[in-house]
Order: sequence, then C-alpha cells, then structure tokens
Amino acid sequence: MTARPLSLRRNKNLNGLFTLARHPDRRRKPRETGSARELDEALADRRLRSLPAWLEERFQDETAEAQIRALYRAALAATVVYTVQLVAEWSLTRDAFALSAALHFGVVAPALLLIAAFARWAETPIRRDLMGAAIPLLIACQVAVTYFASDAPTARYYLSEFAVIAILCNASLPVSARACMWTTALCLTMLAAVAQVAHNAADDAYVGGLIPVSFCVLITLHAAFQRNRQARRAYLLDLRQRLRMAEVGQEARHDPLTGLANRRRLEETAAKLWANESAHVSPISVVLYDVDRFKAFNDLYGHMAGDDCLRRVAACALAEVGGVDDVAGRYGGEEFILLLPRTPLDEARRVAERLRAAVAALRIPHAGSEELGVVTASFGVACADSAHRSFEDLTAEADAALYRAKRSGRNRVLAAALGPRAA
Ligand code: GH3
Ligand code: MG
Ligand code: MG
Repeated sequence: MTARPLSLRRNKNLNGLFTLARHPDRRRKPRETGSARELDEALADRRLRSLPAWLEERFQDETAEAQIRALYRAALAATVVYTVQLVAEWSLTRDAFALSAALHFGVVAPALLLIAAFARWAETPIRRDLMGAAIPLLIACQVAVTYFASDAPTARYYLSEFAVIAILCNASLPVSARACMWTTALCLTMLAAVAQVAHNAADDAYVGGLIPVSFCVLITLHAAFQRNRQARRAYLLDLRQRLRMAEVGQEARHDPLTGLANRRRLEETAAKLWANESAHVSPISVVLYDVDRFKAFNDLYGHMAGDDCLRRVAACALAEVGGVDDVAGRYGGEEFILLLPRTPLDEARRVAERLRAAVAALRIPHAGSEELGVVTASFGVACADSAHRSFEDLTAEADAALYRAKRSGRNRVLAAALGPRAA
C-alpha cells in the first residue's frame, strides 16, 4: 500500500483546495490556503486583468468542451453569413463576381467548413485562437482581393464588409481577447492597405470604409474584452461555490479533531462497498484499535495534551491507507478504525502491525502506561467476504479481537477467529 493521505486522494478533482487546510499535518496548510486566497484575490480585482496560471489553466480545461462547441457553431454560422455576403458582391463588385465566387466556393467556404469539421482538434487555447482567428482572416483576404479586382464605381461601399468581419470576429468567436485584438488589427491594416493602394486611394474609400470600420472594431473589441472577463468571473464564482460546497461536505464527513473520516462517512462508504458486489471489493478487512490507558493519560497530562495525542495517533493512520476505497476513521473517543476493501487478513494484520509500531514510535510519554512508559494502542483485525458478513458483523468481530488484545496485555494486534458464514 502506498502512504498517501486520504483527504488528498478523495479531493483530487478539487486540487485539494480547502480540504488540506483541515488536514492534521499543518506543514501543508500555507500552500493550500494560499491557493484559496488567490481565488479570492482574483475575484476581488474588478477588472480581472489576468488570472494566476493555475486558475487560468483550470478555466481553460473546464471550459474547453463548451468553447469547442462554440467554435463549431461559429464556423458554421460564419459560412452562412459569408454565403449571404455574395449578394453584396453581386450588387457592388459585379465585374469581379466570377473571381469572388471562385474564391468563395473554391477556397474560403470549404476552409470554414473544415474548421467546423475539425473543431474538436481545438482542445488547447492556442489552437482555438488560431482556428478561430482564421475565420475572419480568410474572409477578409477574399474581400480584399475582390476589392482589388473590381473597377466598379460602387466597389468603395464594398469595404464596409470589413465591419461585418470585425463584428463576426469580436462578437461571436470563442477566442481570447488578445486574439481578437490581433485579428482585428490585421483586418484593419488590410483594409487600410487596400483602401490606400487600390483605386488611387480614393478619399471616400477612407471615409466610407476605414473610419466607420475602425469605430466598429473598437466598440466590438471592447465588448470582446468584457465578454472574456465576464466568462472568467462567472467561472471563478462558480468554482468558489463548488469549493465551498465541497468544504461543507468535508466537514460533514470528517472528525474535526483528527481530520479522519467520521462515523457518517464510514457508514456511507461501507454501505457503498456492501451494495457493490460487482466491483470485487472482497475480501474486506476491518482494523479496530484503541489507545491504551488513555483515561490515565488525560488524568496525568490534561485533556488538551490528550487531544494532541489523538491527533498524532490519527496522523499515523493516514500514512497507512492508500487503496482506492480505504478509509481511516475515528470510531469514537480514543477508538479508531480502518476499513480496507480488497485486503486479505494477512495484509490487514501487517497494516495493523505497522500502525501499532508507528504509534509506539511516536514515543509520547505516558507515565500511567505500565507496559512501555509511552502511548501505545491495541488492535483487533477481522476479514471476510462481503457476501458472508455485514459491516456491523465484521466490526463486532474486530471489536472482540481488540478486547482480547486488551486482556492479553495491550500494545498488540490480534485477529478475529471467524465463526460460520452468515445466513
Ligand atoms: P484501555 O487501555 O482499556 O482502552 O483504557 P482507557 O483508559 O484507554 O479506556 P477508557 O474507555 O476507560 O477511557 C477512555 C478515555 O478516553 C476516557 C475519555 O475521557 C477519553 N477520551 C475520549 N474522547 C476523547 C477526546 O476527544 N479527547 C480527549 N482528550 N480524551 C478523550
Ligand atoms: Mg483506550
Ligand atoms: Mg476505548
């Protein structure tokens, strides 16, 4: 078995946030509460300029699926809008219509459909930015070529297409605000270049094209930044809510003194194990153990020292549970329990023996202990197939073994002598 703290494993999906703060091993505390603090700090920044790297990564991970769907929809919607744009080309740049239709159906529309078809490939932010930015840039290139090729007097009005492209880019694409900024800057540069070079830099091309399109770009770019910020803020609020709920769940299922599972969590886990025969959880072992002469310890050293002793004994248990459904719990008072699915009796005895040695090795002085002069614990172990024993039966057998361990001198591990199968 690996020596891994239970609370870490149980909360892997929450990155251990908050939960480790209540772990008895206080050395871990600052880093984890630091993470929680970073979340609060990020939310306190009203402008939400940038998130800490781990939060940004988590945001991207958890929203990737939705963003891929949005990219797919945006690519399809852009293909439709782009096709409708043929009407503008027919009415404004009719002399170059053959060229624009060829580019339209031969290059750009198929490329947009390819982006939709391969949207699933955009699983990282950089890929989403590249694929998303390709949509307006491809359309902008076709518009620029058509404008160049047309000598129609109405061609100058055609430049307003760039406004549509800016809206498409900034208002509907699931790309980062930075990608929106670079893409629209490129589109604007392209517009300025074609307006300058083609048709001898006609003044009205500037007035009719560049100026209104620039305003459109600025306003929609601002909206893109806002949208990105709001998406992150909504995510952070949701994450904080989830973490708080997880924390409440942790509290309801953990003993506040030791951080081990409480009776409720034990019973829930046992109910799941016993209900789930198909998961091959058998044989299941139960290790029940009790601190020796603990009343005397309290009387000698005080209740606070007693609490501290229980915390340290509990921490030893955490080092011994590592299986998928293993649970280390506080059974009550100075009595603890390990619930070990898929663990035969011999293995459970070895775990108990290691734990017994670990408690004694703490060398917590105990003048009232006649045996070693340090705090020790006694162990009872029982093991059975879950089809043959209930959790209560197994615990009762481990308890009987523990009682014998106490009677035969304490600081030892005894296994239950199993009776006949349950009916
Ligand atoms: P044995 O070796 O037979 O187990 O003797 P014992 O003295 O450990 O057993 P007993 O049941 O007589 O005493 C248990 C003591 O544990 C009594 C109770 O005050 C103490 N105890 C139970 N819960 C706590 C706790 O949360 N904190 C402290 N400090 N003491 C506790
Ligand atoms: Mg005791
Ligand atoms: Mg007891």
